[in-house]
Amino acid sequence: MIGYLIYIAAHFFTQLSASSAPIPKATAPTVDSLAKYIYLSFDDGPLPGTGNCITICEQQQVAATFFEVAFHQSRNSFGRNLYKKISSNNRLFDIANHSYSHAFYGDYINYYHQPDAALQDFLKADTLLQLKNKLSRLPGNNAWNTANIKRASGLVRPLVNKLDSVGLNVIGWDMEWRFNKSGKPIDAPQKIAALADSLLLMNKTKTKNHLVILMHDHEFRASADSAKLATMIALLKRNPHYQFRKLTSYPGLK
Ligand SMILES: [Zn+2]
Repeated sequence: MIGYLIYIAAHFFTQLSASSAPIPKATAPTVDSLAKYIYLSFDDGPLPGTGNCITICEQQQVAATFFEVAFHQSRNSFGRNLYKKISSNNRLFDIANHSYSHAFYGDYINYYHQPDAALQDFLKADTLLQLKNKLSRLPGNNAWNTANIKRASGLVRPLVNKLDSVGLNVIGWDMEWRFNKSGKPIDAPQKIAALADSLLLMNKTKTKNHLVILMHDHEFRASADSAKLATMIALLKRNPHYQFRKLTSYPGLK
């Protein structure tokens, strides 16, 4: 129901801005008091699709954060090579902690009911991924824990508290580009870009003027679907006030 209301609101504001908003100028000023910050985040890699996400972000010169699953990174040379490729471009990219096993390979209830084991799962990933930042994201759960934002359900709160005790921020998302049962992106890039516009316009983000978008590497593994990612980013770039950032520069991190 809430998702439907957001969609209706997004559609309304898209129509409104199409008719009344001034046409943006081609270049942004050096200091932009109207700046809005977009954080692209890709979860669950390295997987088929990760390479396309890297290529498109590099072509478009936009920053992104990859929340990696250390099991996917460490199990074979395919994962290790993609990891190296992301690591080699730290101007645009950061790698962050999305656990070792992705909740015991998808057993969410057991995982969150065993917070000590789950913490060890994150610490194992921290070592394998050789992480230089304090960003983590829970598998399958939109929890937040930074200096400024506290949001955790009863199920995940014990783990969030343990991650807090070792200094890790937990970063969720403001919107998701969801995928279907075949792992393909459900919505058109135009709809995703319009939703991003509307959330920023209506201050529906966790932090005002800062928008975190969740995507998954694997949904862009087919070239036709990766083209949708390129289209969505190009649509957002048409707004001269939008600036793409890595999540390490998100406000209010511990
Ligand atoms: Zn995930």
